[in-house]
Amino acid sequence: MNISVPRRVTAVAALAALALAGLTGTSASAGPAAAAAAPDIPLANVKQHLTDLQSIATANGGNRAHGRTGYKASIDFVKAKLDAAGYTTTLQTFTSSGATGYNLIADWPGGDPNQVLMAGAHLDSVSSGAGINDNGSGSAAVLETALAVARSGYQPSKHLRFGWWGAEELGLVGSKYYVSQLPTTERAKLSGYLNFDMIGSPNPGYFVYDDDPTIETTFKNYFAGLGVPTEIETEGDGRSDHASFKNVGIPVGGLFTGASRVKTSAQVSKWGGTATAFDRCYHSSCDTTSNINDTALDRNSDAIAHAIWTLSGASTPPTGTVFENTADVSVPDNGAAVTSTVNVSGIAGNAPSALKVDVNIVHTYRGDLVVDLVAPDGSVYSLSNRAGGSADNIVQTFTVNASSEVANGAWKLRVQDKASADTGYINSFKLTFP
Ligand SMILES: [Zn+2]
Repeated sequence: MNISVPRRVTAVAALAALALAGLTGTSASAGPAAAAAAPDIPLANVKQHLTDLQSIATANGGNRAHGRTGYKASIDFVKAKLDAAGYTTTLQTFTSSGATGYNLIADWPGGDPNQVLMAGAHLDSVSSGAGINDNGSGSAAVLETALAVARSGYQPSKHLRFGWWGAEELGLVGSKYYVSQLPTTERAKLSGYLNFDMIGSPNPGYFVYDDDPTIETTFKNYFAGLGVPTEIETEGDGRSDHASFKNVGIPVGGLFTGASRVKTSAQVSKWGGTATAFDRCYHSSCDTTSNINDTALDRNSDAIAHAIWTLSGASTPPTGTVFENTADVSVPDNGAAVTSTVNVSGIAGNAPSALKVDVNIVHTYRGDLVVDLVAPDGSVYSLSNRAGGSADNIVQTFTVNASSEVANGAWKLRVQDKASADTGYINSFKLTFP
């Protein structure tokens, strides 16, 4: 559950690190600041894409299925948006069931061509409906994320590629074709493929694919930060386009809000909604723009952007001075508070108004934990107060306005477990001064 980040240590900071490490187990180094944060993905924009896909279906016999005019119109719609935003787009054609199918591939110029991060969604519907949740939702959220990359002028260290697949509903035909046409050398350059198929289900659950651990943790951390519990995705396992990539050894991950399976009463307690199908309109004519839960669509769209930004690496040069304690401190079950300390030195004046506090706590029930930052003078800043329910771990960067505190001195991360049964430990605690 720990993603290690390579860091650059300057000579002076390394000496300081040695000196401090000898005394306290604390290290200080000039290291990378937190990666550039992903922008919020505007829900209204994602919903507008869904409205447009609905209009395309309505104008084309009520669906956007493979081999029908509504599918080609959907591909043209997405392609036009990406072309206008500066993407290099490629329309790939294949044949299935006697009809021409289309995949759309969009490359964002720049980044390391030998390390490609890809995200995709199937754009086809079944023939019985407009396919707005399945899978206008994934298609629209990936599209809006790609447009957000362009709007922000994001220049990640990895190369970004987005894909919209045809004929998924006929057996992952489009994505299988794409992968089959990728030379082995090109497959090896794909560092990950993220799949989004149904992310706005009207009675939603929050499911994360249990595949590549880094991708899975990235998504879980995002939802944990929102205090939304997640579960491992099992209903659609191997039933969407990520399987085409996974089958050739490419690391995959993704999100899902549920299809025809019925939400259990335990899941209702966890997520709200009713003990009925996650999507009662799955593969039906009622899968229209009214078949979307806005909160689920919003959270999942933001999670996609978070993953794209986090997994593609920041090109922003490393800045800031980092003070970190990586010694493990066990947190007694329903017991006394424990602390991890970093000794800050060499920083003039007060702490910043946006002090970055990286907290990494391994625990089997984060809702048990009260987590505070304690300044050298004893002032307490609450970071997490029994938030996040039954989700595991607190692996999160908090921003604290610490401008009324003198920077130098002993800063503590204080953790107390206030309920019995679950245990864990402080894995690391880090402060970054700009
Ligand atoms: Zn689907």
